[in-house]
Amino acid sequence: MMKDPESYDFAVCKNCGSPTASPRYRLRDGLVWVCRGCGLHYIDYLDPVVQWDGEVDREELTPRRRAYLKSRYQNNPKRFHRHLDFVRRFRTLRDLRVLDVGSGGGFFLSAVNREGGDGMGAELWDPAVSFARETFGLTVHKYPVEHPFWRNNYSGAFDVVTLWDVIEHVNFPLETLRAVRVLLGNGGLVFVATPCRDGFFHRFGTVTYRITAGRFPTTLNMLYSKDPFGHKQIISTAEMGEMFHRSGFNMIGADKMCELSAPCGDYIFKYFSSRTLARLLGPPAEAFVGVTHVRNKMVVVGLKK
Ligand SMILES: [Zn+2]
Repeated sequence: MMKDPESYDFAVCKNCGSPTASPRYRLRDGLVWVCRGCGLHYIDYLDPVVQWDGEVDREELTPRRRAYLKSRYQNNPKRFHRHLDFVRRFRTLRDLRVLDVGSGGGFFLSAVNREGGDGMGAELWDPAVSFARETFGLTVHKYPVEHPFWRNNYSGAFDVVTLWDVIEHVNFPLETLRAVRVLLGNGGLVFVATPCRDGFFHRFGTVTYRITAGRFPTTLNMLYSKDPFGHKQIISTAEMGEMFHRSGFNMIGADKMCELSAPCGDYIFKYFSSRTLARLLGPPAEAFVGVTHVRNKMVVVGLKK
């Protein structure tokens, strides 16, 4: 049974269920709770329940949004190739039945299909659904993976389910992984990419938070969000393994890497609301990330037990 976001008690860990979580960081967007049992960090915000009906409004795909989808939104070829390479390490793409959860504009899936795979998408943003259907002829359903639509129609139907930058956004990551497991056949694999808490940006934020007695959370304010579909939890590699175990997977691969979804300047602008600062600090920040190869993300793979 799905938990109710309206009345959720944040003292109860969203991963291990231990009732020992307590608030540790007071951020711009809310309180970050930390579980004493497993260590999971999550903000005290959950997306409201939506009654999904699968309908997509094609009018939402305006010329401006089409241009945005084409040029920026998740359209980072380097990123797709990295994801493809990671899947290839474990499975050949030919005839591989892949469900991409949060398939966005369909760039990853279209690459899968180009290599002979059989890709399908789950995506909730109308313009992205329409874009992926029209541009790449993909099958995309507008239902979250936890919705009964998926288990009623696609139980055991996939060899691979991918969640690229999705698990940090969902209300209840453990429930999401359990829903994914139902859709996988025997020997099925789940691939998860997500910011890792045991990475540079989270550590940097906790240090500035501590030495300024909470006045400067810096990167922590960028890592957690109360925006709808924003980042709700930042998971460590060990916790990810634990979460796999609880949802019926064995972790068979893990990799840390440096990957930013947008140029550094965009983050600086978001944080300081200053274009001047973004212009000034963007290039040196970019250079720093390039030189140091700070690793902020993990890709992990779980084998269905
Ligand atoms: Zn816990």
